[in-house]
Amino acid sequence: MKLVNFEWKKVVVALLIVGMIVTMKKPVVAFSQGGILVVIDPGHSSGYNQGCVSGYTEGDWSMEQALEDKAALEACGFSVILTRDREGNPGLYERGQMAVQNSAGYDAVVFMSNHTNAYGDTQNPNASGVSAITSAYLSEKNTQLINTVMKAVADEMNQVTGVTDVKGIEVCQNFNGEDYYGVIRGSVSGARSVAEAAEGPVQYTFILEHGFHTNQAECSYLSDSRNRKAIAAAKASAFSEFFYGVTSSVPNIQTTQVMPQDDFYMHGVVNVCDDDTLNLRLEPNSDYDNVR
Ligand SMILES: [Zn+2]
Repeated sequence: MKLVNFEWKKVVVALLIVGMIVTMKKPVVAFSQGGILVVIDPGHSSGYNQGCVSGYTEGDWSMEQALEDKAALEACGFSVILTRDREGNPGLYERGQMAVQNSAGYDAVVFMSNHTNAYGDTQNPNASGVSAITSAYLSEKNTQLINTVMKAVADEMNQVTGVTDVKGIEVCQNFNGEDYYGVIRGSVSGARSVAEAAEGPVQYTFILEHGFHTNQAECSYLSDSRNRKAIAAAKASAFSEFFYGVTSSVPNIQTTQVMPQDDFYMHGVVNVCDDDTLNLRLEPNSDYDNVR
């Protein structure tokens, strides 16, 4: 009898552990499936920002990645639009505003701008990793989504590159208080306070730097279409888990499921930048308002 009691205790402990895990896996935000719009901005334009691997440009990669992201997110029940086509190059503020202008009828709107980072003009092994830039005025939910997506992308890339980790989130502002980067500023309609940003339809906004195109390992990785599919699947899984609380798998794509650890959220880095190290301002034929 003692042995039986002991076994029951083990079962109870096991059930408690399962209960804790189920509780931890609850979505950060609960939404019904189908009600979320993701506006993907393929950063820059075709042929822009050559990488250290022959044939790679950030402006063409961002388009290919956006198309993969769109397919994976749609397969998971999200509505998706892109801010440009292959030939297009809309102004930066205008790109952010597309999320605002297309928001009607959705429960939530996410703006995500796809970029790759640069450190110097040529190949440099000393800079690698995934980082993000967001608005100074959105809530903790926004930070949590960004951390979740950054970790999913970094973990996926790192399986092959071995050098890709999460660097953190930056917030950059102009002297007048508006967000510094045009796409971010556009997505919150030039808000200068938490209250102003809260009135807008876009409560999730970020530029995501998917590693460095000046890093050989990361640029090689991003040049392979199979890896772009893997990144898209990892992102779609992260979005599904965050918004719907379900683990979605995209058909025919091998993905790695990553559960963010609790303390990952708490220790998410938010830096304030003091100069433009991210190579986002340099657009051909752009005026001040468009560029920044
Ligand atoms: Zn860029």
